[in-house]
Amino acid sequence: MTNHLFDGLSRGQTSDNALFLEHQGQSLSYAEAWARSAQLARALVSLGVEPDDRVAVQAEKSVEMVLLYLACLRAGAIFLPLNTAYTSAEMAYFIDDAEAAVLVNDSGALPDGAGGAGKKPPVALTMAQLSVLADGMAADFATVARGPDDLAAILYTSGTTGRSKGAMLSHDNLLSNARALKAHWRFTDADRLVHALPIFHAHGLFVAINVTMVAGGSLIFHKKFDADAVLADLPRATSFMGVPTFYTRLLQHEGLTKAACAQIRLFVSGSAPLLAETHRAFEERTGHRILERYGMTETTMIASNPYEGERRAGTVGQALPGITLRVADPESHAPLAQGETGMVELRGPNVFKGYWRMPEKTASEFTKDGFFITGDLGKFDADGYLHIVGRDKDLVISGGYNVYPIEVETLIDAIDGVLESAVIGVPHPDFGEAVTAVVVAKPGAALEGAAILAGLATQLARFKQPKEVIFMDELPRNTMGKVQKSELRRRFQDLYR
Ligand code: ATP
Ligand code: MG
Repeated sequence: MTNHLFDGLSRGQTSDNALFLEHQGQSLSYAEAWARSAQLARALVSLGVEPDDRVAVQAEKSVEMVLLYLACLRAGAIFLPLNTAYTSAEMAYFIDDAEAAVLVNDSGALPDGAGGAGKKPPVALTMAQLSVLADGMAADFATVARGPDDLAAILYTSGTTGRSKGAMLSHDNLLSNARALKAHWRFTDADRLVHALPIFHAHGLFVAINVTMVAGGSLIFHKKFDADAVLADLPRATSFMGVPTFYTRLLQHEGLTKAACAQIRLFVSGSAPLLAETHRAFEERTGHRILERYGMTETTMIASNPYEGERRAGTVGQALPGITLRVADPESHAPLAQGETGMVELRGPNVFKGYWRMPEKTASEFTKDGFFITGDLGKFDADGYLHIVGRDKDLVISGGYNVYPIEVETLIDAIDGVLESAVIGVPHPDFGEAVTAVVVAKPGAALEGAAILAGLATQLARFKQPKEVIFMDELPRNTMGKVQKSELRRRFQDLYR
């Protein structure tokens, strides 16, 4: 029997006794991971799970949850992890939307309002209850046959631009991407990756775990990101993956030194833009150039800076092998010339099978010639590096002119005393939208809106200059460290009324 993704993940190791994971002084070999995932797969089957059933999990990050992911693959079920930040009302929506067969969560009960509408409610239980059930099971399992196009997971997008959508990812979507990244980033069985990302998201689950597994390497597992704990483990690791906020927090820690990073061969960043400033500061402190890559839930990884060759700050590099990437006119979808800004579109084995039960939405996100429309705007520089300029939905149209927030943000961020900024469009009676800057000052810096505006006046065309500067203590961010611009737009919607 072949199981496309599970077989691909389980053939990277030279020996079953090789180390898969270590956590708080305990280690787990690949053989032990196979045994435990077999027990968990049997537990799922005993709960009535059949191939293609959805197993929803909203639980604190744990080793058992990683093994449950493998168990789902082996049982032919569809793994559906959910952000731990979701409220019970949101959970009720996701569970009903997905028609989950099983729900693993902290309460062991269905959220209020779920299981209605004549659908068969899922069996709800806690991770601890599932573990006890698995303890009583035999440690072998006849892995269910699955082909490349069968679904392995449904992941909900981060909800940065609106309600999260369930992205259907097939066995080959995930395996092809893991293999491409393994080769591109030179992962081997000698790799030890410090894993501090959440595992309900593509970054922590697929990029970090699948890539390590196809290479036969091991994980140094952290339940959450804690700068002290990560720095303590870096000296015995080879690689680290993080969202930009991980890097800014490491930079705030005096323990981040060349010596602490001496054994590391690769630092990867993604999920949100890494400021060029962070890239430079990190290199200065550690001697390492962070490798930035770009991806999304619907496609997993799309583009990456090179392993060898220049890792260019403020860019996400080139398309991964096997992926065709273009910058196109947002209306006609015709490819644009190098240097022009347009919609980022791609085609490749990594592109998802569609949004769960949203056929119209799915159809509207693909071009006639089969390219997925990312919703991100970008441009290629002269050397073919892709620059992500921002999201289509964040583009500000003021007085009929397009203003790309990142252009304004980059200038504001360069002003003395500015920690970071977000530029948004706010409804305005004359301009349609008014360019509006939200600025966070560095601790102790005395900044004035008028001075910032004066600084920009000589550098930016008038229509790009902010009409107002608003100061905040911090920018609203979600768990992946993404700035919630829709939240800012909501908050300041009446500013010019
Ligand atoms: P939603 O689709 O629900 O609004 P989301 O797009 O934030 O949420 P994800 O799939 O988690 O959900 O994130 C993908 C997006 O993250 C990309 O479309 C892009 O905007 C952004 N992104 C990822 N990596 C980078 C990067 N290196 N630089 C800039 N943006 C990035
Ligand atoms: Mg998105």
